[in-house]
Amino acid sequence: MTAYDDENIFAKILRGEIPNVTVCEDDDTLCFMDIFPRSDGHCLVIPKTPCRNMLDATPEQLAACMKTVNRVANAAKTAFDADGITLLQFNEAAGGQEVFHLHFHIHPRHEGVPLRPPGQAGDMAAIQKKAEAIRAHL
Ligand code: AMP
Repeated sequence: MTAYDDENIFAKILRGEIPNVTVCEDDDTLCFMDIFPRSDGHCLVIPKTPCRNMLDATPEQLAACMKTVNRVANAAKTAFDADGITLLQFNEAAGGQEVFHLHFHIHPRHEGVPLRPPGQAGDMAAIQKKAEAIRAHL
């Protein structure tokens, strides 16, 4: 497996080298908004320690992420009165991964509303408001 590259964009976010819209953090994880949101409230949970994806993650990294995913997903479901949550996670380029630091996508979902296509930049003011709405229910 390819080695972890600490120049990936999420490693830069963790080092504070590029900005992010933080939802919440604890000792082991960070949750922040996806700036190309495929759903309203689309956010990402990452471990603070390095690993490429689920394949090289330790049980401790996975457990820490799942604890945050569970907490944020419930808050987002309430915040947006969602009917459900889609949790997505991609491994290696062939598996759809583009950023090689483990991350879990949380998508609040409403009946009949599809995910938007990837790669469409969101409105940053609207993204900030979504983060505030999730935070209010944590
Ligand atoms: P993937 O590796 O395919 O799971 O996708 C990486 C995700 O990171 C995509 O949904 C991007 O929209 C998102 N992304 C890329 N750069 C940033 C950034 N600077 N801040 C927040 N999300 C980002």
